[in-house]
Amino acid sequence: MLRDARPGTPDVLKIRCHRCRGAGRSACETCKGTGQVFRGVDIRGNAAHDRCNGCFGTRTHRCAICGGEGFVERH
Ligand SMILES: [Zn+2]
Ligand SMILES: [Zn+2]
Repeated sequence: MLRDARPGTPDVLKIRCHRCRGAGRSACETCKGTGQVFRGVDIRGNAAHDRCNGCFGTRTHRCAICGGEGFVERH
């Protein structure tokens, strides 16, 4: 006979994600959280930027570690 886990005891212990600290989002690494990427210099010598296509200008990603949940299973 298997003993049931005590009620209210989670099977998996979850800890706050170390990457996003529970926010579920992390800064885009492509643009370093600026929302744009440096494209080059135009003919007048001005820096030109494009919207980051890693985060589409939102500056954050769903955290890859916790999948946006903010918590990860402790192993
Ligand atoms: Zn980005
Ligand atoms: Zn996370």
